[in-house]
Amino acid sequence: MTQKAATNPVKTCTKCGQVKPLDMFYKDAGSPDKKAYWCKDCMAKRQKELKEAEEKKKAASNDVAKQESLILTIDFANYPDLLKWLAESAEKDFRSTEMQLLYWLKIEKDQKEYANGKHN
Ligand SMILES: [Zn+2]
Repeated sequence: MTQKAATNPVKTCTKCGQVKPLDMFYKDAGSPDKKAYWCKDCMAKRQKELKEAEEKKKAASNDVAKQESLILTIDFANYPDLLKWLAESAEKDFRSTEMQLLYWLKIEKDQKEYANGKHN
């Protein structure tokens, strides 16, 4: 009786710790046994995670793009006096012209809300 060589060599995946047949591991020239440390399942899972992380990152940058569309560009071409008045007032209050406009809008809004809340 000759001893049969192991026909189904196995390897332990360093990721999931499961013992799996060698064909469940990709080739990896850089590893001592020329097989990847992780099994194909774990590799696939990792690929999926990376892809999902990439998509999440993309979605996040889309949100930033949406936020940037909240920036309002105002054309004062027909209201040069209004712009001059705004700019002068901003300079007096040490604000940028844009911040002065925002500040006024906020005061206007706060006053309206205050008035509405008071006299209900
Ligand atoms: Zn595994």
